[in-house]
Amino acid sequence: MTGGNRGIGLATAKRLRAAGYQVVVASRSGQAPDGLAAVAMDVADPGAIEAGFSQVESDFGPVSILVANAGVTRDGLLMRLSDADIDEVLNTNLAGAIRLARRSLRAMLKARGGRIIFISSVVGMLGSAGQVNYAAAKSGLIGAGRSLAREVGSRGITVNVIAPGFVETDMTADLDADRKSAILGAVPLGRYAEADEVAALVQFLASADAGYITGAVIPIDGGLGMGH
Ligand code: NDP
Repeated sequence: MTGGNRGIGLATAKRLRAAGYQVVVASRSGQAPDGLAAVAMDVADPGAIEAGFSQVESDFGPVSILVANAGVTRDGLLMRLSDADIDEVLNTNLAGAIRLARRSLRAMLKARGGRIIFISSVVGMLGSAGQVNYAAAKSGLIGAGRSLAREVGSRGITVNVIAPGFVETDMTADLDADRKSAILGAVPLGRYAEADEVAALVQFLASADAGYITGAVIPIDGGLGMGH
């Protein structure tokens, strides 16, 4: 589980641990609260993915479920985005997830089974002014996930994409009041998601009950993106 030390990732890590899974949380800091097992891994750095993943395998054994959740935003109108803003968001949110999936396949192919879950976003389908870099990464996860689902379906590995709407976390804490109320006005359920609601969907997709779901893009957005 990447990006599991706060927000959606932490809620998911706690939920999966409570359900009896051995969970390891990866983040840049390598720290995790609540006694969760943690590993340092900057997912924007291919070498760090290899090193961190190998450490997880040697400490805990093969990884059977990958939740690629780590993500960052560097928002701004495209004319004002720097190369670093573009590279960091694409490397973290998209290339990192693809590299992690590639690394996790080694053990999953051997085991002839596994679960890969990408955390995308409603903006990957809707678009979002000021988030060209982020929305590109998030829609890229859909193409990547669906392509991989076709590659590995015959090996019993499922690949699915979750597309949350607005969730109450650090990532959305900085939005100004006007933007927040505009968002809430567009959400049929009239509220943000709680991180644990997204975690519950991850838990379902990770479970044996979801064995026939692959290549799916599942919204959890209070209705914000419906029809897209
Ligand atoms: P937070 O900002 O609360 O947490 C982000 C997590 O990602 C942290 O654990 C952070 O850990 C980790 N992370 C960031 N960069 C890296 C990196 N380079 N390598 C490893 N870990 C990294 O985000 P949320 O919980 O809100 O978001 C989680 C996911 O859900 C993201 O992919 C986000 O895009 C997506 N999402 C969020 C929505 C929302 O409304 N909050 C809506 C739709 C999608 P650390 O900083 O310690 O490295």
